[in-house]
Amino acid sequence: MEVLFMGLREKLELLGVSRRDFLKFCTAVSATLALPPAMAPKVAEALEDDNRPAVIWLEFQSCSGDSESLLRSGRPKAADLVLDVISLDYAEVLMAAAGHQAEQAKHDSMEKNKGKYVLIVEGSIPVEDDGIYCCIAGDTALNQLKKAAAGAAMVIAVGNCASFGGIPAAYPNPTGAKGVADLVSGVPVVNLPGCPMNCDNLTALIVHYLIFGTLPALDNQLRPKFAHGKRIHDNCERRGHFDAGQYVEKWGDEAHRQGWCLYKMGCKGPQTWHNCPTLRWNDGLSWPVMAGHGCVGCSEPGFIDTMSPFYRRLPEVPGFGVESSATSVGLKLVGVATAFFAVHGVVSIIRNRGTVKKVEEEYYEKEEK
Ligand code: SF4
Repeated sequence: MEVLFMGLREKLELLGVSRRDFLKFCTAVSATLALPPAMAPKVAEALEDDNRPAVIWLEFQSCSGDSESLLRSGRPKAADLVLDVISLDYAEVLMAAAGHQAEQAKHDSMEKNKGKYVLIVEGSIPVEDDGIYCCIAGDTALNQLKKAAAGAAMVIAVGNCASFGGIPAAYPNPTGAKGVADLVSGVPVVNLPGCPMNCDNLTALIVHYLIFGTLPALDNQLRPKFAHGKRIHDNCERRGHFDAGQYVEKWGDEAHRQGWCLYKMGCKGPQTWHNCPTLRWNDGLSWPVMAGHGCVGCSEPGFIDTMSPFYRRLPEVPGFGVESSATSVGLKLVGVATAFFAVHGVVSIIRNRGTVKKVEEEYYEKEEK
């Protein structure tokens, strides 16, 4: 049988993915979506269904990290699963076609699937000087986004750049980079931030859409709650050390070797909402904090301005202020853990660029004296 006409099951077998591995993957997707294990067969059914949604994948100001994340995902071969359960009609980085052929493919798919296709956007969109800083096929990213979003059933912004502007939007943001939700209206937008996004979350989001025909519950930053409903800090395996006041003080010290808390080394886990500690990366093998590096807060609005310097504790964060020693923070948090949830969102609002810069400069000047 020609590969083109094979069903998902046959293709996975050809790739060496057994039925057992596939079902294990479906159970993992159910768990990611916080669905009961009994839903795993439904997930398998949805993935094997031939009714594949058409997907247009646009890439603007980005490093292609999200495309890389898709291509290098494991569990078992999530990229194959994603690429098989969707009909990826246009993706500059991945498609073989180029130039007029590629543009024609996009145009045809948008016409044929009007109102039904899923638009995935990677990278931020520059708006300064009429958007001239990113053009594809002679048209600005801004125009391309608006045209494609107008006929989409939903838009998924993958990575921090497409979600919130990301690194291109960092101060002084010379291109006027923005995220998708700031520029698109009249169509549902879901943000899947991270630098890059975790492909398992994209798979789970698509599976949810296939099974229920709706979007999952979103938070106030348009992120799915199944992926961004909990703080990194709350599921971190080093949390016991935080609460016990056991901190790494220097890279490579004994505490670092023992796997103690990285808060004093600048970990932004307390301000970051993502399922990294439970989902992990590389087939669930590890994630940055487990590997010994603090969280850099890449799934939050304002990253990187509001999350840098990476290797210093953030000053003036409610509950984590300069007046508090890390030890007292740990003790305080045990008592006020629930109240701290209210801080989410406030942090990003108060840490606007001007005040952040000023507060940080004053703080570091004081610290260096
Ligand atoms: S501060 Fe960072 S390393 Fe420490 S418990 Fe929280 S998330 Fe984990």
